[in-house]
Amino acid sequence: MRFCSECGAPLEDRVPAGDDRSRRVCTRCERVHYQNPLVVVGCLVERGDELLLCRRAIEPGYGKWTTPAGFLELGETLAAGACRETFEEAGADVEVLAPHSQLDLTHIGQHYAMFRARMQSERLAPGDESLECRFFRAAEIPWGELAFPAVHFALRLLLDDRTVGRRHVHHARLRWSGAGSRFDAANYVIEDHLKTPLG
Ligand code: ZN
Repeated sequence: MRFCSECGAPLEDRVPAGDDRSRRVCTRCERVHYQNPLVVVGCLVERGDELLLCRRAIEPGYGKWTTPAGFLELGETLAAGACRETFEEAGADVEVLAPHSQLDLTHIGQHYAMFRARMQSERLAPGDESLECRFFRAAEIPWGELAFPAVHFALRLLLDDRTVGRRHVHHARLRWSGAGSRFDAANYVIEDHLKTPLG
């Protein structure tokens, strides 16, 4: 953000009185333009032992696979946003079953809230943002062709839970190594991982 949305004057970086960090501040009207993290909501849609993935028709990650997910809208609950994104990207009418993972990506100011969900009908119809949508068995998941590290880790955590036969709600930070692509899960480590068993 370069110009004040109130008066149009240029912004500068400085620490406002009484604050403890640098902000974007208007050089004329002094208005502080706070920047806060964005919330990404999405669904891990299970059908038996299969998982729903969509192949992206837009950047970033054109042609790569992702779970249905996108930015939370104002006035929307996390679960409703996750269902909306699933409908928009996959044409799938889903029911949220449980929270699955809360993943912090502080280097890009994003927080992911992922839910486990199931299909309400068999209907699948790729939306404008998807080239195709289909279900994958665990062994078929295209790990090298996933669009986003958070999706990679959410899927990994889900499959790990299946392996041990116990569901959890996960909370963790995904820390970028500081080098290499921010879109490659190999450049991330999972930290401060909290697991709460379900049921
Ligand atoms: Zn201003």
